[in-house]
Amino acid sequence: MYKNWLDLENDCKNCNKCSLCKTRKNLVFGIGNKESKVLFVGEGPGENEDLIGEPFVGRAGKLLDEMLSEIKLYRNKNIYIANIVKCRPPNNRDPLDEEQEKCINWLRWQFKFIKPMIVVCLGRIAAAKMIKPGIKITREHGTFFKKGNTLFMPTLHPAALLRNPNLKPEAFKDYLKLKEQINTLGIF
Ligand code: URA
Repeated sequence: MYKNWLDLENDCKNCNKCSLCKTRKNLVFGIGNKESKVLFVGEGPGENEDLIGEPFVGRAGKLLDEMLSEIKLYRNKNIYIANIVKCRPPNNRDPLDEEQEKCINWLRWQFKFIKPMIVVCLGRIAAAKMIKPGIKITREHGTFFKKGNTLFMPTLHPAALLRNPNLKPEAFKDYLKLKEQINTLGIF
């Protein structure tokens, strides 16, 4: 039970609930404006994120920032970015179900404090965990799913767009839909 963000962040940074704590250089808690009503969730830190302690700081992060700036969203200004797992899985493998299960409570607490109106799930792993297991991201990206008072939208992971750049225009439509939804809800 957490009463404030700082206690949550401190406890999270000392987490040893799963074996990923043994190989991490830095735990990646999240970055951005926690007063924002728009939360982005990726799957887990990669090599650069582990080194620096901030989500999405590698090539995929640069692409993410570029797409975000096109719709006037900026980390540290009007969004918050976190991950399903806070520590880097070795060799950038997918986080195991048990690692996700052990870690997800940190994100649940972040969610409780932020109370986002919109959650953007970056990639299959985040979408499956937060929206529904088995989600087909290539078919369902850009769709809004309402759960409680929050809208969840899956989109392709920016790393997938680096691997397959011809998907970028299709994926960017999701960002335009997001902007439209932000405007409709009068978030900013
Ligand atoms: N990929 C993710 O899913 N999260 C990060 O923080 C970096 C890369």
